[in-house]
Amino acid sequence: MRIAIIGGGSAGLVTAHLLDRVHDVTVFEKASVLGGHVRTLNRNVSCDLDANLILDAGVIEFETRNFPTVMRLFESLGCVTRPVPGTTTFWTHDGVHHLSPGSMKRAGGSLGQRLRQLIDLLELKLQGTRFHRRTNLPETVLDTRTFGDLLSEADADRWAALLATYAYSIPYERVREMPAGLTIPMLRAFEHAQSWVSLEGGSWDYLGRIVDRFSGTLHTDAHVDRVTRKEHGVTVHMASGEALSFDKLVIAAPPDQTLALLADPSEAERRRFGAWRANHIHVLIHQDRGLYDRRGVEVMTEFDVIETAPHQGGYNCYLNVLCGVPETEERAFGLAFGLDEWIDSEQVIVRHEHHTPDYTVESHRWHHEVSATNGENHTYHVGAWLGDGLQEGAVTSALAVSKLLGGDTIA
Ligand SMILES: Cc1cc2nc3c(=O)[nH]c(=O)nc-3n(C[C@H](O)[C@H](O)[C@H](O)COP(=O)(O)OP(=O)(O)OC[C@H]3O[C@@H](n4cnc5c(N)ncnc54)[C@H](O)[C@@H]3O)c2cc1C
Repeated sequence: MRIAIIGGGSAGLVTAHLLDRVHDVTVFEKASVLGGHVRTLNRNVSCDLDANLILDAGVIEFETRNFPTVMRLFESLGCVTRPVPGTTTFWTHDGVHHLSPGSMKRAGGSLGQRLRQLIDLLELKLQGTRFHRRTNLPETVLDTRTFGDLLSEADADRWAALLATYAYSIPYERVREMPAGLTIPMLRAFEHAQSWVSLEGGSWDYLGRIVDRFSGTLHTDAHVDRVTRKEHGVTVHMASGEALSFDKLVIAAPPDQTLALLADPSEAERRRFGAWRANHIHVLIHQDRGLYDRRGVEVMTEFDVIETAPHQGGYNCYLNVLCGVPETEERAFGLAFGLDEWIDSEQVIVRHEHHTPDYTVESHRWHHEVSATNGENHTYHVGAWLGDGLQEGAVTSALAVSKLLGGDTIA
């Protein structure tokens, strides 16, 4: 069959890879590079940095226990993973720094300091236990509640909220509006994280391997404007005016784009996709270590989640450790979100715009139905948003569609 895939991010490219052996697949990506949120500087994204510096400006890391399908895919592609510490520190708006056990190890410090940090951690653990008890609700209940409905103002809860901001790129100011049905299972799952890894050669490495093996057609700078569907197939209308015919369509673009793409949405499609909105955000890749010095913070951890004011803030990831840049390198590289006013603009290397789904209770509630009705009107849907919102969701959604279309599985 001739299959059109709209969107060349993780979900679109993995779907293309799995369908490639049995179908004639064409991927349309509107950006000038493939990868979607996978942006590896000096790999799929060019930059002015020394060519040997491989830094991720989007997707950075993967968790072995919660991303089993992703791990199998990496293995099948021959990717090499490197372990990264999952250390995090929470900076509250009133100047307190809560350290995770990993951060405490990195911080060193005197016996007295360590003892104080341990007592603090125990207090947070207690708050965490209360949070888990409060949120231990069946999926059907969680699906009807916002994350904010279940959060208190306790430090552990605000730390959890910032971790959700990190996971889904939803600004901290709005994270409480997210669906509890997405955030709570994610927080529960990552509570039992086994080990975090990143990819040698950056996150693009696995998609690059897919692209190298792919025998179908990949178009970049290829903005699909509209799709019309008839009894015997679909026609893809490009923004350039060209029209191309296919047997089946896979939409791998963000869900808020679906109704804009479909010339003839059914009532059910209008209902399933009508509430989705875009979340336009940006991240800064920078070299501003002063961010830490100014707050008197000695230890830079991989995930510093930071309140700049009540209900305002973001995060800074320490890229040297995450991307395999030696810590002896005199430059410290960071990826920051929501901290623009804290970062010296002179020290910003690059700003990256991302368009992600704006998860709300109303938009997210239809995702099971979308997966269950894949194939209706010759149309299939893939994307991280159909699963955990992360890389595992992107890959499992691709796998599900591959199964329906007689494609490959991931051994
Ligand atoms: C800054 C950031 C960091 C992240 N870090 C991690 C991480 O470390 N680990 C993790 O698991 N997840 C991370 N994520 C989550 C990430 O969103 C998912 O893991 C996953 O990459 C999403 O893939 P996707 O294919 O579903 O969507 P996308 O990557 O959004 O791909 C959709 C593609 O469709 C294209 N498109 C849209 N409209 C059209 C059109 N009309 N015509 C043609 N093409 C179109 C877009 O240009 C885009 O390339 C991160 C997200 C962001 C924003």
